[in-house]
Amino acid sequence: MKNKGEIILKPTKDNSLRRFHPWVFSGAIAHASEGLQEGDVVKVFANDGAFLGVGHYQTGSISVRILSFEDEPIDRDFYLQRLTEAYRLRLKADLIRPDNTIYRLVYGEGDNLPGLIIDMYGNTAVVQVHTVGMNRDRHLIVEALQEVVPSHAIEHIFYKSEATLAYTGDREFRDGYLMGGDKVNPVAVENGLKFHIDWLRGQKTGFFIDQRENRKLVERYAQDRRVLNLFCYTGGFSAYALRGGARKVDSVDSSAKAVMLTNENIRLNFGEDARHGSCSEDAFKFLKKIEKDAYDLIILDPPAFAKHRGAIKNALQGYRKLNLAALEKIAPGGIIFTFSCSQAITREQFRVAVFSAAALSRRRVRIMYQLEQPVDHPINMYHPEGEYLKGLVLYVV
Ligand code: SAH
Repeated sequence: MKNKGEIILKPTKDNSLRRFHPWVFSGAIAHASEGLQEGDVVKVFANDGAFLGVGHYQTGSISVRILSFEDEPIDRDFYLQRLTEAYRLRLKADLIRPDNTIYRLVYGEGDNLPGLIIDMYGNTAVVQVHTVGMNRDRHLIVEALQEVVPSHAIEHIFYKSEATLAYTGDREFRDGYLMGGDKVNPVAVENGLKFHIDWLRGQKTGFFIDQRENRKLVERYAQDRRVLNLFCYTGGFSAYALRGGARKVDSVDSSAKAVMLTNENIRLNFGEDARHGSCSEDAFKFLKKIEKDAYDLIILDPPAFAKHRGAIKNALQGYRKLNLAALEKIAPGGIIFTFSCSQAITREQFRVAVFSAAALSRRRVRIMYQLEQPVDHPINMYHPEGEYLKGLVLYVV
């Protein structure tokens, strides 16, 4: 048996780590040193004793999330190096600009930091962890973050992990500011459009950054169209459609709070704009009651219908039903932007669900674009599970 903080895998169970996949499943473990606590840093070895990687130990079906495939300490320098790498990618991708201050700086496994999310909103960083190990390291991460991002660009760091770590019952920490917190400016810009971000109470870290590029595409096709933005949340797609010259834009979300946030964001950019309407209603009911041909651009961006693999069948039926309802109502020559953010559903499965809806509608449907998540949500080559957002843009006659 090795020392504290070490794990030895069963024979043949080392293949995925040798291919740099960052997860060790509990069934792969032959021996673990005694007294391992959730959140500990552990070294993982093959059965023959070869070093494979070092990561955070956790209870549950994934036992270790590998942070490095080199035998190195997980300390401030480690986080500094990883965060620098992540920051440079966003700089190179030209996402950090005066007219774009909203971007994801760290996307978990995609940035070789499993369990860590950092979103930037103007000069506020929102840090969200999904593992006990990252929670323990939060002060190292915050120190590194202050060093990596220029000091004028980061004045507040909000830590938001109570909900994501609720399962641990850890009462040692609370959501709150780890830096700054006074005179916070909750308004940030995405491609020149202003958004009020509520990281305290909003879903996830407060905003869906992953649709930025897809919103730009909506802007490009919005001219003179009557636009329906279903599942609008904070109104991202609606703002781009209005800027793109839409004749009218209706925003719908089942949450009254979301509709309020949308209205606020539209006012922030366009004042009282008579072209915008909104209502809090179930998207399926809304589609059912509207007239045929009432809209010529419809956006369908629902929450993940399949939160786990067991829910795939029902989720596919949900996507088919939703897309069919939109296909039945859209005006001829209309465009549908349809998305799935369910990680458990593959691109192909989603496309088949939309295909079934198209066939049932009997309309002539062309795929104009196939969409995906943006560069600040990078997919680690060795971790395909990081791919989740897929979309189709349909031209419907
Ligand atoms: N398109 C948004 C993100 C959508 S998140 C953006 O670009 O920011 C999903 C949203 O769907 C949430 O705001 C949630 O309140 C809403 N929602 C969930 N179920 C719904 C339903 N049945 N009808 C309408 N909205 C729903």
